[in-house]
Amino acid sequence: MANTQKPMLTVAAGTRPGSCSACEATVFWVFTDQRQLVPVNCDVEGGLRPVRYPGKEPGDAARGAGKGIMHDCPNAGQHRRS
Ligand SMILES: [Zn+2]
Repeated sequence: MANTQKPMLTVAAGTRPGSCSACEATVFWVFTDQRQLVPVNCDVEGGLRPVRYPGKEPGDAARGAGKGIMHDCPNAGQHRRS
């Protein structure tokens, strides 16, 4: 499943890293166009972590943005059970 091409999601500069509750991977919580909050893994091929502290110049926020793919948790089954 690792070779499935997933769309890259943009992570705004200044987004604080969190960790996945199931596997403790570092993830950045991002809203999709559908206003869904999803965990994004930036530690992937082609991914980039956002800068922690965007500068004061207007362009800096865009420059410091990161990108990644939606975290595909290997332990998702543990917290999806309901
Ligand atoms: Zn996980």
